[in-house]
Amino acid sequence: MMSETCYDVVVIGAGPVGCVAALAMNQIGLSTAVLEVQPEQSEIPDGRTLALSWNSYLILKRLNIWSSKEEQFPINRIQISDRGHFGQSVVSASDVQLPKLGFVVRFKDLLIRLRKQLSEQKVKTLFQASATSIEKHNDHSKITLDINGASSEIAARLVVMADGGHSLNMAGLKLTKTVDHGHDAIVGIITSDSKPSDMAYERFTDSGPIALLPRGNEYAFVWSVPSSESGDLLNQPEIRFLNAFQTAFGDRCGRFTSIREKRSYSLATRIAEQPSDGGIVIIGNASQALHPIAAQGLNLGLRDAWDLAEVCDTTKSENLANEDTVNNYRKKRRWDRLQTTLFSTGLNRLFSSKLSSILGVRGLGLLGLDLIPIAKKVIIRQLIFGPKL
Ligand SMILES: Cc1cc2nc3c(=O)[nH]c(=O)nc-3n(C[C@H](O)[C@H](O)[C@H](O)COP(=O)(O)OP(=O)(O)OC[C@H]3O[C@@H](n4cnc5c(N)ncnc54)[C@H](O)[C@@H]3O)c2cc1C
Repeated sequence: MMSETCYDVVVIGAGPVGCVAALAMNQIGLSTAVLEVQPEQSEIPDGRTLALSWNSYLILKRLNIWSSKEEQFPINRIQISDRGHFGQSVVSASDVQLPKLGFVVRFKDLLIRLRKQLSEQKVKTLFQASATSIEKHNDHSKITLDINGASSEIAARLVVMADGGHSLNMAGLKLTKTVDHGHDAIVGIITSDSKPSDMAYERFTDSGPIALLPRGNEYAFVWSVPSSESGDLLNQPEIRFLNAFQTAFGDRCGRFTSIREKRSYSLATRIAEQPSDGGIVIIGNASQALHPIAAQGLNLGLRDAWDLAEVCDTTKSENLANEDTVNNYRKKRRWDRLQTTLFSTGLNRLFSSKLSSILGVRGLGLLGLDLIPIAKKVIIRQLIFGPKL
């Protein structure tokens, strides 16, 4: 049946979720390979800065990927507010009995570190290798890949699709839901005349939600704006962009004084069908790409990767291709995936609405969070750790 080059696990995509899945599989002793279409790079051209939850920090630490450098940028409190309307809430680490809520990390720094760790842990990683098709057999799958125009094959008992959702059709998988939000996220680094603390801000404004993440002397920001306006905003000279940002955010973080590394990302929610027959699982953005409003996408994807490794750890390697393995993973992830997806899409809808009845409800909701500490604790802990059933 299988050739000698059959791995226990082949991960398609060396994004952050694919890397974490591969490192976790390697840590539990499974032979693992990773395919990545991009070349190996020492610089990653990405402008995103992420809010990583305390649970994501624990996952990265258990895999020896955490760098103590990142601990300079903790989030201990998050202020959530609705510009021009009543209601505001502050969530702090002590509300949920954790040392920190999370940390602020540059996407490119994290990805470089993860890919370096793949090489240090001797996980077979093929760069510039694009998976083009998957052929399923009883106890393994054969993946065809294209490396610099040359075709070759690799076999795996379990194929983990962590490709960000770019090539689902090669596994015969479909999207069950796609929402184009008509918004782009403008990201960048901004400074102000008041020094950032350990407080992150989620501010809902008429032009779209703004997240400000403290990183030492500066903030990273994510500003969700209508796609029709993002090109103009991005091209504006610094002073005009700063004015527009100040007008949208207000002055609770002082006067904004400089901005750099502006970029935009178009925003869509995409939910994929989870396969139920054996041999293939999908994780991370390939499984669900969410609106970044609640900063949940990567945090959820890392929980996918970690839970998958836990399922594989309790499965004999010759059974990895079985339907049971995939179904155990689906069962383990069902509630977290559903709850986090509903939360991100619901929050986006709630705070995009201009209906006065909705404005009142969300003001009460923010107020209620502060008045009912137990509700706050349950909601925030579930967002950090996923539901504990
Ligand atoms: C503006 C913005 C802000 C965000 N902020 C946060 C935040 O604060 N917190 C948070 O948790 N999340 C956040 N997110 C979401 C987060 O960035 C994503 O959820 C996360 O990057 C997804 O990682 P991934 O590894 O699943 O997918 P990706 O990062 O898309 O990686 C997929 C990889 O697969 C490779 N690939 C694709 N097709 C193939 C193929 N056929 N063969 C081989 N390789 C292939 C790609 O080259 C890529 O390297 C944000 C997103 C945006 C847009």
